[in-house]
Amino acid sequence: MASYQAFHARSVDEPGPFWSEQARLVDWHAPAAQPLDLSHPPFSRWFVGGLTNLCHNAVDRHLAERGGQPALIHVSTETGTESAYTYAQLHDEVNRMAAVMQALGVRRGDRVLIYMPMIPEAAFAMLACVRIGAIHSVVFGGFASASLATRIDDARPALVVSADAGSRAGKVIAYKPLLDEALHLASHAPASVLLVNRGLAPMSMQEGRDHDYAALRERHAHARIPCVWLESNEPSYILYTSGTTGKPKGVQRDTGGYAVALAASMRHIFCAQAGDVMFTTSDVGWVVGHSYIVYGPLIAGMTTLMYEGTPVRPDGAIWWKLVEQYGVTHMFSAPTAIRVLKKQDPETLRRHDLSTLRTLFLAGEPLDEPTARWIHEAIRKPVVDNYWQTETGWPMLALPRGVEDLPTKFGSPGLPVYGYRLKIVDEQTGEPCPPGRKGVVALEAPLPPGCMSTIWGDDERYVSTYWSGFPGKLLYSSFDWGIQDEDGYVTILGRTDDVINVAGHRLGTREIEESVSSHPDIAEVAVVGVQDALKGQVAMAFAIARSADRAATPEGRMQLEGEVMQTVERRLGAVARPARVFFVNALPKTRSGKLLRRAIQAIAEGRDPGDLTTIEDAGALRQLKDAMFPPA
Ligand code: ATP
Ligand code: MG
Repeated sequence: MASYQAFHARSVDEPGPFWSEQARLVDWHAPAAQPLDLSHPPFSRWFVGGLTNLCHNAVDRHLAERGGQPALIHVSTETGTESAYTYAQLHDEVNRMAAVMQALGVRRGDRVLIYMPMIPEAAFAMLACVRIGAIHSVVFGGFASASLATRIDDARPALVVSADAGSRAGKVIAYKPLLDEALHLASHAPASVLLVNRGLAPMSMQEGRDHDYAALRERHAHARIPCVWLESNEPSYILYTSGTTGKPKGVQRDTGGYAVALAASMRHIFCAQAGDVMFTTSDVGWVVGHSYIVYGPLIAGMTTLMYEGTPVRPDGAIWWKLVEQYGVTHMFSAPTAIRVLKKQDPETLRRHDLSTLRTLFLAGEPLDEPTARWIHEAIRKPVVDNYWQTETGWPMLALPRGVEDLPTKFGSPGLPVYGYRLKIVDEQTGEPCPPGRKGVVALEAPLPPGCMSTIWGDDERYVSTYWSGFPGKLLYSSFDWGIQDEDGYVTILGRTDDVINVAGHRLGTREIEESVSSHPDIAEVAVVGVQDALKGQVAMAFAIARSADRAATPEGRMQLEGEVMQTVERRLGAVARPARVFFVNALPKTRSGKLLRRAIQAIAEGRDPGDLTTIEDAGALRQLKDAMFPPA
């Protein structure tokens, strides 16, 4: 085995030759004329002039060798159904979906918004889009109408693909009424809506706009739609972040760079091969779902397992039963899911034969040591953390064990991944921090293949958001704090901005604040994430009522609190609903007028609020404390 250090050094010192070698892991219709174009920093364009197609790499190129191998297995414990598609069958389904999209007028470069539950058609739709050069934008199925509407207005899709309903923990969530409401709220009107009817909830169809997928699919039996060869830098998809600034950022991904980055990650980070079976427990609405439910495993010729349901229904053994049943070799989940499992007797997990499983990968939030140890002892398999963002599309901190057998250090996702010039830098100056000193996790240009190309339709916002944090330096900010040890291992210490992570759902504090403030009786509000043993975090709101009268009595406060919760639930969905709303007369702010969110959060979590030198009115903090923990 090579030394990882040398591997990494070469990847950043000679990015062109390094990535040209990795590019051989995917099929090209025409080779790149230039591996990297950096003429407009900080924009990096990979494999310039190369022609390829994600769907060809994920599906068509495997047909000759593994047409009969399962490509996609779908299990829903919500509807009690299981189905499997070989590569040949997947090819057939994707072609039919692509034919339907074309029949509905979708052309290269058009956007298609996918608002779907975890059903195979969600993957078919994604693959069909990239097949014909359309740009998909998957919006997580749990989002409420207002969130969906802002994304419709930003992406301006020609087509929306959706379904009658999703289901979570046995409860059917009708999607069509949510979509109709979103289309009513949005100013952009897509020409067509394509609906998969699962028979879970009634749908009202709008003549001329809404189409039943099953009927159209029948009309396109045996359809063969050729892959459109795209220049490597043409967009493949848009995926919105949770949007701390209120307006979500549409992360735009390229085509060739993404294919290469994923293919290389399957080999070097996940140590996976064609024929292996990957079970990623995320949702296709998140980046982990894009990269490691759909594209990564399929590009690598693996079998991917797509699961609709919770980890504990019908019981805590379900995931592990699936590992045995389908011979899962690679599993990818999130710490929040493991914390849900932690309520189970570890014996429940071991009831099944886990001998095929090689590694459990986790990502998405800090992996605390007790959780890591618990799951490791329960399944007796290596548990490997990795750190990345929607923006990067694939891990930036990991242990690339396909290169060298690197030891784990609890609490750290590992080393900077090849291709990334990852540095821990001083928050003010951008200068590298010595080992042991906390700083911002930053990336020097060029970002490696697979990372975001820009913010959809807004290059300026891309530069000002990510590349302008350190004056005079071309550094991408991750907005996370980190610390590096003498061996190069990085530990993530939390976010420099404020996002709440409720059971794996990332919500911007600003977005929740905006929706609390939309209640007519609320004057001002601060929302913070407060640690929660089960959900990781919950939202907690501190609000100033418009008229002091309404919040003057316990009854009045209770009623207003209920109304505020309902307002948030209606606008953003139940996950965003604050666990509590406390009423105060003032909020702690800096002299420049910025909310001291860190201090509020510290008080709410019963910690010391720390440095308060910039506070304008210390009395506001006391009030907050009294509201939460009323003095006896
Ligand atoms: P937004 O950018 O809109 O605020 P988000 O950052 O919450 O959204 P993601 O891109 O899905 O959404 O999450 C990436 C973030 O998750 C990272 O920046 C980091 O804060 C956190 N994260 C991911 N993986 C890990 C990990 N292994 N350890 C610690 N934190 C992690
Ligand atoms: Mg982020």
